[in-house]
Amino acid sequence: TVYFIDGQFTERDGLAISIDDRGYYFGDGVYEVIKVYGGELYTAEEHIDRLFQSATKIKMTIPYAEVQLMEIARELVAKNNILVGHVYIQVTRGSAPRMHQFPDPTVPPVVTGYAINNPRPMMGIENGVGVKSVADVRWLRCDIKSLNLLGNVLAKQEAHEAGCIEALLHRDGVVTEGSASNMFGVKGGTVYTHPVTNLILNGITRQVVLGLCEEQGIPVVEKSFTIDEAFEMDEFFLTSTTSEVTPVISIDGRPVSSGILGPLTMKLQKAFSSQIPSFIAD
Ligand code: PLP
Repeated sequence: TVYFIDGQFTERDGLAISIDDRGYYFGDGVYEVIKVYGGELYTAEEHIDRLFQSATKIKMTIPYAEVQLMEIARELVAKNNILVGHVYIQVTRGSAPRMHQFPDPTVPPVVTGYAINNPRPMMGIENGVGVKSVADVRWLRCDIKSLNLLGNVLAKQEAHEAGCIEALLHRDGVVTEGSASNMFGVKGGTVYTHPVTNLILNGITRQVVLGLCEEQGIPVVEKSFTIDEAFEMDEFFLTSTTSEVTPVISIDGRPVSSGILGPLTMKLQKAFSSQIPSFIAD
């Protein structure tokens, strides 16, 4: 695998990150995952845009222009011969002796990245998945795609231990999102999802799917719903860069509707697949 680190492309051997990296000490940094289909980056501009927005929100300056990061992502795809997979890009506030406050004078942010082959998770996409409700105990800036993912990690582990693919996070019974995905319910032909606030990450896939709903004439209400209401939905699905549109067929072991794939979810999956650039089946 060819990695990007310190402004250079390099093999894994000899690659070194400082033990004083603030990403390592504090999770003090931001990241993005960009999907690759048929050797092409998908919605890369939106992801790189969001990376810059996340950096601004944590008062960090990325030492590249957006077009430069795009070029780095492209080169990672080319150098690693990625057909279907993803690019990971991370930027930390840099390396400095451990102190909570920002280094003064500032140190250069550390930009790293790689690209790997990773097939579409067709099992979940085609058959649906189960989720487990987990209390959302994360901080109040979930709109930032930060490296601080302990809340997400613990939620995902709890779901995993219950044999579920994803955690359905809720604050005081109100559904926010997944540990690494956005959550959607369908009731009476209308799609419901949490509005864009500080309590969720506004997923790029979420935005793509809401656009597809509009194209398909499917009504959308960006309004939160409760866990109790989630159980009553006709259909349920989650979205993310890697999971695309994945049907949720059970919540806490209870089947959603009759536990079969919903027609509206399948319609959105079809619409999603058809706009993937030069898709080559893996
Ligand atoms: N919410 C959280 C907490 C995430 O980590 C992610 C992505 O991994 C998402 C939502 C989905 O975002 P996207 O569709 O941009 O991948």
